[in-house]
Amino acid sequence: MIRTNLDHVWRPSPNFGERLSDVDILLLHYTGMKSGSAAVNWLCAEESGVSCHYLVDIDGSITQMVSEDKRAWHAGKSYWQGNEDINSASVGIEIQNEGSSLTDIVENMPDFPDVQIAAVIALSKDIIARHKIPAERVLAHSDVAPGRKVDPGPKFPWAKLAQAGVGVWHQNISIGNDLSVKDIQRCLWTHGYDCHVSGDMDEETVRFLKSFQLRYGLEKIDGVADHATQHLLQNIGKKND
Ligand SMILES: [Zn+2]
Repeated sequence: MIRTNLDHVWRPSPNFGERLSDVDILLLHYTGMKSGSAAVNWLCAEESGVSCHYLVDIDGSITQMVSEDKRAWHAGKSYWQGNEDINSASVGIEIQNEGSSLTDIVENMPDFPDVQIAAVIALSKDIIARHKIPAERVLAHSDVAPGRKVDPGPKFPWAKLAQAGVGVWHQNISIGNDLSVKDIQRCLWTHGYDCHVSGDMDEETVRFLKSFQLRYGLEKIDGVADHATQHLLQNIGKKND
């Protein structure tokens, strides 16, 4: 049984299996549900078929549901840098927030309270330290399931987390050189998405661009590779090389 050293409530979920690989990803979610307790009940109900290692409620309280050495069921169909079994490679944290729909992405979404984010940072640092997870492998559910998932969403304070040593953020965006569609697709693939280098700005490429814009806080989440998006793609790509 591997549990966090931080104060937490233990509410075991029956929904887990054996890991097929070592842990090297921390995957962050929002619940998209009305309350933290409703989310814990769902994640612990056998009928749901889903679970997560942790849930952080809006008051900063932490519930653990699956031992960290077990494979919890939170990522679903997913992909990152060649890996299609993100559940085996990750520890998952559900963060209580009602979330937003894809069509009305910012307006409907509540803010994350400071006390909640402080708890997410503390828990993340604890997990990262014990599993030696690299900063660039602290991922959003939207990173590994682009188009299908948007959580933890546009209001999630990634910059604040990066400042505290959790995950990566970017420097100020300046104008970069124009990239060809193939260049853009190569950058998306290098970054982690399952992007084919076709040279056509196809539906799949637009979906990955949207997910990238969402994750890195760009003003427009429209899948159009404008200068800001291209520059950021080049920068993030370099950082991961
Ligand atoms: Zn999620």
